[in-house]
Amino acid sequence: MVRIPTLLEGGRTLSFEFFPPKTSGGHMTLGRTVAELEALHPDFVSITYGAGGSDRHRTGDVVEWMRVETPWVPMPHLTCRGHSRADVAVLLDTYQQLGIENILALGGDPPADGRDEAGDYRYAIELLEDVVAAGSFAAGVAAHPEVHPRSPDRATDRRHLADKLSIADFALTQFFFEAEHWRRLVDELSGLGVDKPVVPGIMPISNKAQLKRMADMSGAALPGWLADRLDATDDPAEVQRIGIDVATQLCADLIDAGTPGLHLYALNRPDSVVAICANLDLGGN
Ligand code: FAD
Repeated sequence: MVRIPTLLEGGRTLSFEFFPPKTSGGHMTLGRTVAELEALHPDFVSITYGAGGSDRHRTGDVVEWMRVETPWVPMPHLTCRGHSRADVAVLLDTYQQLGIENILALGGDPPADGRDEAGDYRYAIELLEDVVAAGSFAAGVAAHPEVHPRSPDRATDRRHLADKLSIADFALTQFFFEAEHWRRLVDELSGLGVDKPVVPGIMPISNKAQLKRMADMSGAALPGWLADRLDATDDPAEVQRIGIDVATQLCADLIDAGTPGLHLYALNRPDSVVAICANLDLGGN
């Protein structure tokens, strides 16, 4: 396997994010998506981690499947919410045995049903410390260009992120729609003496209701110019075309700004990712 910091040292990376399916239909969709995206040769892919309980094994199952069945470098997400240190030790041991070398250490969002579980960790940095202490993993963390919704202010948000990045190898960001958010984040970290790679997360919009849900949860703002474009149509195909257009321009702006990588939220569908990569002549090398 390959460590993501090594890939980032080698030049701009291209990576995709997937979620673990819950149904057999979802597995078939993911399988078809992976087959369609293989030709783009992503440097790594990441697999999100579910809200809790019996769903938790799904991330490991997808990671193991990708490890065996694809040439990709799969990175599991891991959240601290509701976990004991003993749970995490078992999971990390399993990942070590699978040959996984990269982990994204996260706080986690509360489950949608509002039932929160007690655990040994409060913040992502505590989980990150355990991931790094395991000795074999390169570690990534989440960054929130438009400030995490639970942060009391921008400076506090950046200070906590800088603390995480003093231990982690890199960050992946929450989605956003204007490159200036990423530039400002990188400048602010630099002002705190942090120069670890911050890889922007790009979400191609494909569904207006889903976008609203995700934006509300993550603190990402929908700029007026984008809201106007989306308000002008209810045609799902046109919404997807706008999403591809906007993500293509954002990626181009980020490349101009010197981004260390592009992390595309594929959401288990290939079409938008394929179109964005074709527009920018990315992947396939
Ligand atoms: P933290 O770093 O713990 O930060 C959360 C809040 O606590 C912030 O406001 C921070 O400023 C504050 N804080 C941090 N440390 C301290 C401290 N010592 N004292 C006081 N305040 C502190 N969620 C999932 O459930 N599954 C996923 O797979 C998943 N993948 C994601 C991938 C990416 C790239 C991103 C950006 C987010 C992802 N999320 C995922 C969402 C993420 O878990 C949530 O945004 C969560 O609310 C915060 O995660 P964090 O790692 O930034 O947490």
